[in-house]
Amino acid sequence: VGALLQDPATYERLAELTDGIGPRLTGSAGAAAAVAWALATFRADGVKAWTEPVKVAHWVRGEEWGELLAPAPARPQRLALTALGGSPPTPAGGLLAEVVEVRSLEEVRALGEGARGKVILFQHGMATPEDYKRDAELRYDGPAAASAAGAAGALVRSLATSSLRTPHTGSTSFPPEVTPIPSAAVSTEDAELLHRAIARGPAKVRLTLGCGTADPPEVDSANVVAEIRGRERPDEVVVIGAHLDSWDLGTGAVDDGTGVAMVLGAMRAVARLGVPPRRTLRAVLFMNEEQGLSGAIAYAERHGAELPHHVAAMEMDLGAGRPLGLGFDAGKGSERLLSRVLAPLAGLGANRLIAHGGGSDLAPLRYAQVPALGLAQDLTRYFDLHHSAADTLDKVSPTDLAVGAAAVAAIAWGLAEAEETLPRPDPPTEPPWWRRAAPASGPAALDRPAR
Ligand SMILES: [Zn+2]
Repeated sequence: VGALLQDPATYERLAELTDGIGPRLTGSAGAAAAVAWALATFRADGVKAWTEPVKVAHWVRGEEWGELLAPAPARPQRLALTALGGSPPTPAGGLLAEVVEVRSLEEVRALGEGARGKVILFQHGMATPEDYKRDAELRYDGPAAASAAGAAGALVRSLATSSLRTPHTGSTSFPPEVTPIPSAAVSTEDAELLHRAIARGPAKVRLTLGCGTADPPEVDSANVVAEIRGRERPDEVVVIGAHLDSWDLGTGAVDDGTGVAMVLGAMRAVARLGVPPRRTLRAVLFMNEEQGLSGAIAYAERHGAELPHHVAAMEMDLGAGRPLGLGFDAGKGSERLLSRVLAPLAGLGANRLIAHGGGSDLAPLRYAQVPALGLAQDLTRYFDLHHSAADTLDKVSPTDLAVGAAAVAAIAWGLAEAEETLPRPDPPTEPPWWRRAAPASGPAALDRPAR
């Protein structure tokens, strides 16, 4: 732990990933460069590493532009907006339609004929990080609900806790039976502008989105996996993970470059000890967390036979805030072992045990009852930056990052070395979603700050 607090490599690597490689949208050249970089970085630290293939949907952004047209004498106002991942393009010449405001999925379903041909604006009151869980369904399921009601397009107020007129993107989902419609996030300020215009009388918007599914629609990508074999029980595995892909507006520093840097740092520190832990410690850098969890699903399927011996999985995907402790979803009585594992972190203020944790990439592992953990962090500023152009390296404190990497190393070591293992949680009651629904589309419940 002490060595990691002093190791400048953790932050330097985050700089390589963000300033050097930049945005890592699934399917993009940046994502492919990140795979090659992560593989080489593990190997440079003397850690055995390899890639595992993942097929990913390939969506591209393109030009994006919008304006508000209120009745004269009001003049047209430019809107700060950005397409949602999964959105189709607007028709040639753009989309011009009246905008109608709703605050819930029920409200859009209740519009009936009032939705036909309109652009639906999904308004909400997100003010705190906790609100993300409640309001994210408007982004994830809202456009599909608008389309089912006959709408021609959808705008979603950015899911953000503060704004300097930066729109926040994110994925949206259209089930196979629903026609995809052009969908974009508007900045908080523009959501307010639209709200005032609608209150004054009928308002129209004109939208041009050049985004859409690329040709071919799917491309080959990969998870990066690295491993330190256990010295006594090599078949028992502790996974530490983060996601390698990011959105394209910023450089994915806090989502999820910091998680990647912490995982690299923890593996490097354990490798440097020269003595492996009792159990196998495995790092997984997942591809495509942001647009369908296909890397997480591929890992769970490929390693299905091993999952009963995965004794814990921990994902770091909560940004750059100060580490506070550990969030966990594990069986009854887990607190005993977890408190012992966290004890060395008391001096860093990172020894709190918090019910519920683990990132979205761990969702498929829950069906095999793998205890899911995640580093708990201060989230105060996370949603100011999340999925926006402001997600850049300058938002990361090298000190907090070093503490995070040290905490991950200590927790991973503690779990891999302990005599006993964590009690396993109950599995989800529903069958695995990716085997019931179309591939590459996670449920809204999974689209949460854990990502
Ligand atoms: Zn994330």
